[in-house]
Amino acid sequence: MALLKDIKGVGPRALCLLNKIGIYTIEDLVTHYPFRYDVLERGDLTKAEDEEHIVIDGKIESVPILMRFKAGLNKMNFRLVTQSGVVGVSIFNRAFLKNQLQVGTGVTVIGKFDKGKNVITASEIKMSTLTNKVKIEPVYHCTSGLTNKNLSTYINMALLAYGKDIPDYIPEEYIKKYNFLNKKTALNIIHNPSTDEKLKEVIIRLKYEELFAFMFKINYLKLQNKKKNNGLSREIDKKELDKFIKSIPFKLTNDQTTAIEDIIKDLESPSRMNRLLQGDVGSGKTIVSFVSMVANYLSGYQSALMAPTEILAVQHYNNLKEFLKGTDINVELLTGSTLKKDKQRIYEELSNGNIHMIVGTHALIQEDVEYNNLGLVITDEQHRFGVNQRANLQNKGLRPDILYMSATPIPRTYALTIYGDMDMSIIKERPKGRQPITTYVKSNDEIKEVLQMMLDELKEGHQVYVIAPLIEESENSDLATVCNLKDQMTLAFGKNFKIDIIHGKMAGGAKDLIMQEFASGKIQILISTTVIEVGVDVPNATTMVIFDANRFGLSTLHQLRGRVGRGTSKSQCILISNSDTKRLDIMKNVDDGFLISEEDFKLRGHGDLFGTKQSGDMEFKIANLREDYKILLQTKKDSNEYLKNKDTDNDILKKELVLSVNENL
Ligand code: ADP
Ligand code: MG
Repeated sequence: MALLKDIKGVGPRALCLLNKIGIYTIEDLVTHYPFRYDVLERGDLTKAEDEEHIVIDGKIESVPILMRFKAGLNKMNFRLVTQSGVVGVSIFNRAFLKNQLQVGTGVTVIGKFDKGKNVITASEIKMSTLTNKVKIEPVYHCTSGLTNKNLSTYINMALLAYGKDIPDYIPEEYIKKYNFLNKKTALNIIHNPSTDEKLKEVIIRLKYEELFAFMFKINYLKLQNKKKNNGLSREIDKKELDKFIKSIPFKLTNDQTTAIEDIIKDLESPSRMNRLLQGDVGSGKTIVSFVSMVANYLSGYQSALMAPTEILAVQHYNNLKEFLKGTDINVELLTGSTLKKDKQRIYEELSNGNIHMIVGTHALIQEDVEYNNLGLVITDEQHRFGVNQRANLQNKGLRPDILYMSATPIPRTYALTIYGDMDMSIIKERPKGRQPITTYVKSNDEIKEVLQMMLDELKEGHQVYVIAPLIEESENSDLATVCNLKDQMTLAFGKNFKIDIIHGKMAGGAKDLIMQEFASGKIQILISTTVIEVGVDVPNATTMVIFDANRFGLSTLHQLRGRVGRGTSKSQCILISNSDTKRLDIMKNVDDGFLISEEDFKLRGHGDLFGTKQSGDMEFKIANLREDYKILLQTKKDSNEYLKNKDTDNDILKKELVLSVNENL
């Protein structure tokens, strides 16, 4: 197969930019699907509804007025005469267009119409009016230096020259069965759609293909796993293990005990463990993972515990050390900020077996880490790592048992499919002595009351989380932001309490520092985006305030709420929103994460911007597990049938699919 650089027009610079957005091969390129299409059908101001996305032609009537704000932001306003009336236009951060936007120039404005103010907040201004009434334009994820147009050109060049060589992962019999277009044609259409109908048809076809490959891998893995005795054989010193369990300062719940038993059985069995431990936030999954690691140690193997963030890794490390006090077990922490000289030593001791347990971020299996005898890998609060990462382990000659932990309860049917190749343990019961969390739904007008509730808690010496959907102001949005809230909170509480912020754009070290200061009580109010969603345990934090709560998925809200109620004091979660209170009422009335996930699943697709992290949705280029559930079920059935009926090893397609899984897994 040809390489990216063989494509006409792709030079070293373009190559570099393509790599930057994750495109390394021609196949990557042609499957870099548009994430949106702009249907450029001209709208009519008199018919347009409030908040409608509109495309409209017109002539510029007034000299654009440019305003500049801090942090390099700017905004331009002008009046536009259209066939259906005069309308105001504002656009952010396009100061560079000012010279082109002369009075009298014809432009096409694309954006959101505010009927009350008679203003379009434009996302785009095209410097020409449309020739056809309707045009469907693909919009790609780009990067600075690589425009939508560049991408479109490269993709079409690639399709022209190499379109025939792009592999099609749908077996022929299913292409026939469903009357699908061939791959090249489908790709051509998705990148250059002429009509909506054709586009819809190929989208389904490409989704089917992606899901087929996905389900094929899962079914294949499951089949292999069941067939082979491919795990480690081991004996666990149960007496020692019991001793450890007895040393835990609290009594395990029944669900915890059952989960531990499941895991021990898996460890002892000659098949490889591939288990998902699901449990609501605060249900106590961590101790289950610790016991598993001790069991693994007692059978003579090393364990690795991976957390999605450094903060969480550090917390697990400290906890684990505490639990293991008085044992000979040697635990280490390895993250991005481990000093180089320590890293060297840790690498060495991992490979000579001196270290028995290592806690860290994903780097634990990705870097050049060599283990002496890795027997157990646990990943926390992360959607399972992909088949490819498992292949990564395999390539190192490792076949550890694997335990995934997730606090995102997944609806049953959904889980059965997505985690179809895994066994599952579920913790439903909460540890005793937990105070329930009271949830309130408040409107923006009730903010004074909310501040009072916060003050009451602060005065008690407790701490407060405040969550906003955005970090700083952005175009098209008047949502709460971390930066604005910091100003407001400082005004309200700054005299007596320490306030700070944390968000995903901060450097890892800075985030950790803030988090530690919050955990140790130096900071009383922590304002944040959803970065604090996962795992962190600060028992003294008793209040969670979430602004624009309607912007978050129910599961995300539930996760956030799980950050409080971790100590012995009564906790509360305050959801602030003027809209969608019906959905938020579910939060008020339901505190079972599993029920919430069912509700969430039913409700999804309604513009949920932030809840997309769960369940590996991101792994797909075109399919969406939520919307495409039916296709998923179909591909599950089809791929299973295909795997079983055609058990010939020289089936080429099957080989191709299996190759991408890695034969030995
Ligand atoms: P999660 O399942 O969300 O990861 P954690 O494992 O962090 O929950 O547990 C939350 C808190 O509950 C921790 O402080 C932990 O020590 C405590 N805990 C766990 N199991 C029990 C138990 N059986 N009894 C009392 N406290 C427990
Ligand atoms: Mg946890």
